[in-house]
Amino acid sequence: MQQKPISLIKFQRKFSTERACQKHLFRLRWPDGYKCPRCDHDKYSFHSIRHLYQCKSCKYQVSLTAGTIFHKTRTPLRKWFWLIFLMGRQKSGISMLSLQRMLDIKSYRTVWIMGHKVRHAMAQRDSYYKLAGLIEMDDMYIGSKKSGKQGRGALGKMKIIVAVETKDDKPGFAKMERVENLSKDMISQAFDEHLTDNISIITDGWSPYNALESGNRKHFPVFVGSGENAPKVLPWVHTMISNIKGNLRGIYHGVSTKHISRYLSEFCYRFNRRFWENQLFDRVLTACLNCNTITFAELKT
Ligand SMILES: [Zn+2]
Repeated sequence: MQQKPISLIKFQRKFSTERACQKHLFRLRWPDGYKCPRCDHDKYSFHSIRHLYQCKSCKYQVSLTAGTIFHKTRTPLRKWFWLIFLMGRQKSGISMLSLQRMLDIKSYRTVWIMGHKVRHAMAQRDSYYKLAGLIEMDDMYIGSKKSGKQGRGALGKMKIIVAVETKDDKPGFAKMERVENLSKDMISQAFDEHLTDNISIITDGWSPYNALESGNRKHFPVFVGSGENAPKVLPWVHTMISNIKGNLRGIYHGVSTKHISRYLSEFCYRFNRRFWENQLFDRVLTACLNCNTITFAELKT
């Protein structure tokens, strides 16, 4: 049986000081003990004022957070830890405004950047995974209702492709990608690298999905007729679509085109680890430790 995630009380007790957070990061960054990034030596001295680990062999100095999402952060690690813990805990996501209040973070800009840095690390971690086996695929549209064409030809809406592996009638790993349009080229460009070579894709028969066919990659169009039948043919992808739409409406109001991909990554990251809820906190921390930071300027572009 799956272990339950740690309670808020226990979490607070465990990570009540900066030192406790640093020790935890140290263990995750160097699970087999310290290793100098330059010469692999395993002995170091700790510079307590500058928080640097100095290799006893080559004298190279490294901070615990260099080359990670936390690089040069001025926010205490305790607040980062809480933010990551709470982002992972809520299946539907959590608004940055409520985190700002809960964690007593002065500016919304700071908490907004923190949230997107964590999402960036989640996206990078999941980018290593390729979908395999039987895959349901469909597209969804996000944005305010506009008059005129609805569905695939709708104007002014964000178009997102959703893919879910299915095995024994249960969902596996999921991926979502925003695309400019639903052309063959765009679908292929967005998803080609996310797929293994041996897959069967089921869609509602939208012909541009044929772009993903090659070798042992097969496309099986299932013509669903009216839109009401689509959830019966593609049950998991439609469950994902209705969940993400609900989340985006309820928690993240008015997500812009620039940032939607990171929200989609956050949603998929949590979904993909739904059976490891108790490990989620350490997994996200590890993803943050293995990811170079991203600046505000980069986030804004
Ligand atoms: Zn060294």
